[in-house]
Amino acid sequence: MRALSYDELFIGGRWQAPATAQRISVISPHTEQPIGETPAAAAADVDRAVRAAREAFDDGPWPRMSVDERMAKVEKLAALYAAHTDAMADLITAEMGSPRSFSRLGQATGAVAQMHLNLVAARDYPWVERRRGLFGDVQVRRAPVGVVGAIVPWNVPQFLIMPKMIPALIAGCSVVVKPAPETPIDAMWLAEMLAETEFPEGVVSILPGGRETGEALVRHPGVDKISFTGSSATGRHIAAVCGEQLKRVSLELGGKSAAIILDDADIDRTVKHLKTASLMNNGQACVAQTRILVSERRHDDVIDALAGMMADLQVGDPADEATDIGPLVAQRQQQRVQGYIQSGIDEGARMVLGGTESPRDRGWYVRPTLFTGATNTMRIAREEIFGPVLTVLTYSDERDAVRIANDTEYGLAGSVWTSDAAHGLDIAAEIRTGTYGINMYTLDTTMPFGGFKQSGIGREFGAEGLSEYVELQTTVSADPLPPVPA
Ligand code: NAD
Repeated sequence: MRALSYDELFIGGRWQAPATAQRISVISPHTEQPIGETPAAAAADVDRAVRAAREAFDDGPWPRMSVDERMAKVEKLAALYAAHTDAMADLITAEMGSPRSFSRLGQATGAVAQMHLNLVAARDYPWVERRRGLFGDVQVRRAPVGVVGAIVPWNVPQFLIMPKMIPALIAGCSVVVKPAPETPIDAMWLAEMLAETEFPEGVVSILPGGRETGEALVRHPGVDKISFTGSSATGRHIAAVCGEQLKRVSLELGGKSAAIILDDADIDRTVKHLKTASLMNNGQACVAQTRILVSERRHDDVIDALAGMMADLQVGDPADEATDIGPLVAQRQQQRVQGYIQSGIDEGARMVLGGTESPRDRGWYVRPTLFTGATNTMRIAREEIFGPVLTVLTYSDERDAVRIANDTEYGLAGSVWTSDAAHGLDIAAEIRTGTYGINMYTLDTTMPFGGFKQSGIGREFGAEGLSEYVELQTTVSADPLPPVPA
């Protein structure tokens, strides 16, 4: 395993002593023992990183290089990273309890894939165009947005850093990344790889820390854009602060997605897919399909199949290859999720399996829990639980199913399960969410991803993801312009 303790921060591309002695201790959610620590970045560290990023952007070589030159650096980073994906996955599992199978595929391998997919998108991206305007030739150029502050949560830490840092770097921005305090060590290892890649001075910083560190970054006048992933509550606050300064902001926020099971669905196939779509990463996924909508006619069959699947889930050591459900990231999350289970019971839903007691003596585990007989006004149907808890709701007809699915403040994801894919598209068109699945729900990281309503503003992945890190500059000319160089 990697060295798990760091004494310095990665500021402007160099390891530097932190401004204060404040440290972050990472506790294993499985053993409840410390596994390592890093410095916690203070406002003074944020200031140093933003100044370095500002200088790199205003006067340094990075934004003035060709896109190809910047892509070559990202390719180098991807090659370095690819040699370590299994070890990176194991580190993430140790830090935050994601089952090893998910850490490998959904986190570390997904992080490398995103670097490559961004490179593919960048090759076809219209960085500079010539257009014919009202008065003659016009150049439309996509210029880097400037200094970017990237703030991410702990649930899929490396997978969330990449769709911010990589397109921003390719576009020519300089970036200050703030990982969550629960997962600072994997970020520090990424910083080692960034150091080895040798980006120009000031271009990248990685500053682990909590709310104050993030707040200092959001408020810093030297930052041009904040790209945030996290809860809707924090996102709302960040958008307000950015609004005061007219800072660009994109937000990837929470979800409470509905899986609509139509009467013609193959229930075994549906439940097999929902095992991942609803419970991946111990239920700590923004896109988790946590409201299961079914008609009275198929209700009992669906409950039997879901209960069978959930009773078979292996709950235990996340480092074990066979584990389906590991511990939640922190004791506060365990207590919070158990509080939601209690609220379901108190509000009158029927608990089919699960419960509030911890399934193991040690570690922040929660019993996989299934509710039915719920209404869409209950907290377990309205609020993002972020644990292995599913709520089944019944609908009277398809219109009712669509109404219930849309009766939420969120709009991130959703799915429909049916033997008629064409009809699935009709349902998708009625649902107010940024992504949707027919007989599956899996992120396609080459396609735009983001939220309607309180689930966010902006899109990640693909060409749309690159567009979050550029400003459009239009240049008119009295004289004919030369063609764009190949
Ligand atoms: P959170 O909002 O509490 O924290 C997210 C990040 O913001 C952390 O790095 C935190 O330190 C930082 N932060 C907190 N307060 C801040 C402030 N005032 N200013 C600046 N930064 C601040 O979120 P969480 O509970 O740690 O993460 C889980 C949430 O993230 C869930 O709601 C989940 O749905 C959401 N999420 C969304 C997506 C998506 O792509 N839409 C992906 C993963 C997670």
